[in-house]
Amino acid sequence: MTVVINMREGLDERKIKVAGRFILEGKLVAFPTETVYGLGADALNEKAVRRIFEAKGRPADNPLIVHIADFNDLKKLAREIPREAKLLADRFWPGPLTLVLPKKEEVPLVTTGGLDTVAVRMPAHEIALALIRASKPVAAPSANISGKPSPTLAEHVIDDFYGRIEAIVAGGETRIGVESTVIDLSSERPTLLRPGGLPVEEIEKVIGPVEIHPAVKGKAVDLAKAPGMKYKHYSPNAQVLVVEGPKERVREKIKELVEEYRSKSYRVGVMATEEFEADEFFYLGKTVEDVAKNLFKALRELDRQGVDVIIAEGVEERGLGLAVMNRLRKASGYQIIRV
Ligand code: AMP
Ligand code: MG
Repeated sequence: MTVVINMREGLDERKIKVAGRFILEGKLVAFPTETVYGLGADALNEKAVRRIFEAKGRPADNPLIVHIADFNDLKKLAREIPREAKLLADRFWPGPLTLVLPKKEEVPLVTTGGLDTVAVRMPAHEIALALIRASKPVAAPSANISGKPSPTLAEHVIDDFYGRIEAIVAGGETRIGVESTVIDLSSERPTLLRPGGLPVEEIEKVIGPVEIHPAVKGKAVDLAKAPGMKYKHYSPNAQVLVVEGPKERVREKIKELVEEYRSKSYRVGVMATEEFEADEFFYLGKTVEDVAKNLFKALRELDRQGVDVIIAEGVEERGLGLAVMNRLRKASGYQIIRV
C-alpha cells in the first residue's frame, strides 16, 4: 500500500499533484529535503499528524517542524514574528534553519508536542517546496523509525516505512545530510536548541550572540525547552564509540581499539576521514561537509554489514562540526573516548 513516487530525475509536477492530494487527504508522504528525508502530513490536521507519531513510534511530547514554502505562511502559524525571525528568514530561507516562535491557536498541540510554540522552516529543495505548494504547510520530522539514524536516501525511508505509509517520494541523496539548525526566538534571548545544517556562526553574523542550550554539547534529560534532546537518537544496532581529540592521537587510539575489540572476537566497523584496517570501513570524506553528508549513511551501512562495534572519528566542533558531533555523541549513547 506504499506508492514509491520516483523523482530521482528531477521535479515532475504531475506526480507532485498526486503527492499533494495525499497530504490534503490526511495521508503520510515521505519526501526529500536538503537536510534529510521528512515524513510529512498536513500540519493543521490533528488526525494526520497523530499518524506520524504512530508510524515512527515517536513520543508524543517530541514536537515536529512545520515546513512552509512562502514567508506569508509563517503568519498563519506564528502569533508573533520578532525582528530576528524576519532577519534570519530573509537571509537563510529557504534553507536548513528552523525558527521556534509562539504558536497560533490554529496549530494543533499534537503538532507542537503540547508546547505553546511552533517550529517552522522553509526547505531548500525543489521537490519539498513543490509538495508544500500543492498542499498545505507540512509537519515533518525525519523519516526514520524513532531512535534510528535519519534517512539521507530514499532507500533508507523504504527500509523503515515501506508498507506503513501511503507514499514515498524518491529524490536521490540529500545534499546536507544532517537536520536543520533549530533556534528558539520565543524567549528573551535567541537560543540554539539543536545544531544543524546552518552553522551557528552564520546566524550570529546576522542577529548577534546566540545562547547555546546546555543540551547541545552534553548529555540531556528533562528539558522542557529542547524536547527532542532527551530521547535516544540516531542509534544503529551496533554500539558506537566516538574518539575525540587531536587528529594524530585519535588515529592511534582508533587503531588500538580496533585491535582490542577484534581480539575479543567482535566484528569492528570504523567510520573516518582516512583509511583504517577493520572488518568494515566507511570513508566519510575529507571536509566536515562530507562528514555531515555521509554520517547517517555510514551508521546505517555499517549496521547492515552486521558489525558489533562502530568506532567513529570525532571532528572539530566548528561550523558543521558542532552538528556532526552532536549526532555522533547521541548515536554513541555518550560512549565518548577523549584522547
Ligand atoms: P526532527 O525533525 O525529527 O529532527 O524533530 C524535530 C525537532 O525539532 C525536535 O526533536 C525538536 O528538537 C525541535 N523542535 C520542534 N518544535 C519545537 C518547539 N516548539 N520547541 C523546541 N524545539 C522544537
Ligand atoms: Mg529526527
